[in-house]
Amino acid sequence: MNKIGIIGAGSMAEALINGLINENQVDKEAVIASDISDQRREVMTDKYGIEIVADNHKVVTESDYIFLAVKPQVIGDVIEEVADLFTTEQKVISIAAGVSTEQLEEMISAKVPVVRIMPNTPALVQEGVLAYSLGRQATEEFGRELEDLLSPVGKVIKVKEALMPAVTGLSGSGPAYVALILEALVAGGVKLGLSHSDSKDLAIQTLAGTAKLAAESDEHLAVLRDQVTSPGGTTAEALYRLEKSGIRSGLIEAVAASAEKAQEL
Ligand code: NAD
Repeated sequence: MNKIGIIGAGSMAEALINGLINENQVDKEAVIASDISDQRREVMTDKYGIEIVADNHKVVTESDYIFLAVKPQVIGDVIEEVADLFTTEQKVISIAAGVSTEQLEEMISAKVPVVRIMPNTPALVQEGVLAYSLGRQATEEFGRELEDLLSPVGKVIKVKEALMPAVTGLSGSGPAYVALILEALVAGGVKLGLSHSDSKDLAIQTLAGTAKLAAESDEHLAVLRDQVTSPGGTTAEALYRLEKSGIRSGLIEAVAASAEKAQEL
């Protein structure tokens, strides 16, 4: 059984651990994590019963897969602290936004296969989407192992490293755009007299249902939009207002702005 080590047991690490353990992808005995925060160590032990330590060295020496799940600002220090311990049989997976596989390989220096993944927060409820790109030493087989390992956490797709900023802009930051749209729809319902709770149910189910319809349909998204838009009708009127407000260009610009920012971090 491969042992999975995770350095940094914050919210994204928790999403991964939750999916892996609760979907019975791995036994909890096969997971070890480390965190500098006493509080995080306590929470994670209570919730998942995994071994969680303060010592990053222990995670590296005991694991086959090593996930680096600390913030991008500290990943350099963390790697420096454990760099001498990596062996070529191990595999490193970084989830730090904006840190390329090339930078990671330079920091690690040993010839360890490195993969970079960009998850998103719906991974917390096993509905994430995780894009990954392979470093120079990482084989296609490592990629397939990772797809299999992480499948309980969400959909896993492979992209070229150069497209990682685009992934960050679209699906990494995406849950925030969708939450904003949901908030606005709820506010629209409340303005017209619906209760907050009913508005929330209506908005969330409309989004989830439309997403399912889109996922299960081969049609272009514009066709799905057309199906609700009768000539001269209510939706046509609403869509005209939305287009006039610049929602389409606003969202395109949001994806691009986040991608640009990801490269500056
Ligand atoms: P977080 O702050 O919740 O988790 C980071 C954890 O690392 C904290 O618990 C912290 O105590 C711990 N830590 C800090 N220094 C440490 C050290 N030296 N040794 C061990 N542990 C240490 O952050 P997060 O949101 O889980 O993000 C983690 C990574 O995931 C980041 O690199 C981020 O770019 C990436 N990411 C996050 C999201 C998101 O939506 N949250 C999406 C994609 C990628």
